[in-house]
Amino acid sequence: TRTPVNVTITGAAGQIGYALLFRIASGHLLGADVPVKLRLLEIPQGLKAAEGTAMELDDCAFPLLRGIEITDDPNVAFDGANVALLVGARPRTKGMERGDLLEANGGIFKPQGKAINDHAADDIKVLVVGNPANTNALIAQAAAPDVPAERFTAMTRLDHNRAISQLAKKTGVAVSEIKKLTIWGNHSATQYPDIFHAEIAGKNAAEVVNDEQWLADTFIPTVAKRGAAIIEARGASSAASAANAAIDHVHTWVNGTAEGDWASMGIPSDGSYGVPEGLISSFPVTVKDGKYEIVQGLEINDFSRSRIDASVQELAEERDAVRALGLI
Ligand code: NDP
Repeated sequence: TRTPVNVTITGAAGQIGYALLFRIASGHLLGADVPVKLRLLEIPQGLKAAEGTAMELDDCAFPLLRGIEITDDPNVAFDGANVALLVGARPRTKGMERGDLLEANGGIFKPQGKAINDHAADDIKVLVVGNPANTNALIAQAAAPDVPAERFTAMTRLDHNRAISQLAKKTGVAVSEIKKLTIWGNHSATQYPDIFHAEIAGKNAAEVVNDEQWLADTFIPTVAKRGAAIIEARGASSAASAANAAIDHVHTWVNGTAEGDWASMGIPSDGSYGVPEGLISSFPVTVKDGKYEIVQGLEINDFSRSRIDASVQELAEERDAVRALGLI
């Protein structure tokens, strides 16, 4: 039998954590034949709620779940971790300046990065979900000099999935017919969902849609503002779909992309497509044997170029801000 994979989840008692843990324990993260051990990291105020969730996990009697450990110490939580899902973050509250937000998150992601550096398993894969996800990932990565930088990633898979769903609705096809969609840049309102290389039932998506105004005025803002629309409708933020995207991201990273398709991941740039090296920006990637590669050679038209540049500019500003704060 296989040795269990250690999966660490931070902010485990939160909304996303609640939607995430049961799917990990039931085999959706890594595969239906892979046993898992869960490590739940919470702040002291969150420990009791995490214990409640652990009781429910016990009560599911999941055959793949080989243990649950709950702690408020990152050094314990990341000890031997193979996969880390960094979900807990400091949310932006009313009147909070961007600098305050970045500083508060630096206080979370810098020590977590160091704990990953010092204690995680050699094959550690990190996904940052907590916002601002790309820059939080950069902070954690900078605090982990002994871990290959490419193991730190940020989630843009929810944006990717949202874009596929909107495109499927617009064109009246099943989501499974849509391939090669790309999210570029930051997981923020500046993100750019790109359909110029996407395919709908094998045909070029931009040609099928053939409506640049819909792209600019409806599609892009609908995808970028979907989180706010869900808060407005549900009275709470999108937790289950965010958890689902986190599952998709890690599942793809571990098990690969399908032939003829790719995924979007926030990853440290190697300079491809004019994105400054080191910024954690979203790219189209293919994955094989647990390693991702940026899809190369895509032609970027003017419509796409200006939008990618704007989002990357925002990432550069966030990087400069955390650098000025001494967080990286
Ligand atoms: P959620 O579980 O709803 O969200 C957690 C993080 O995910 C937030 O930063 C949120 O960003 C982000 N996020 C990313 N994508 C999405 C999306 N599509 N929809 C919603 N959120 C998204 O937050 P809760 O407040 O319910 O729970 C957070 C938990 O984290 C708490 O239990 C808290 O105690 C814990 N925590 C743990 C820490 C630790 O382990 N060291 C540190 C800090 C907090 P956004 O704010 O932009 O919505």
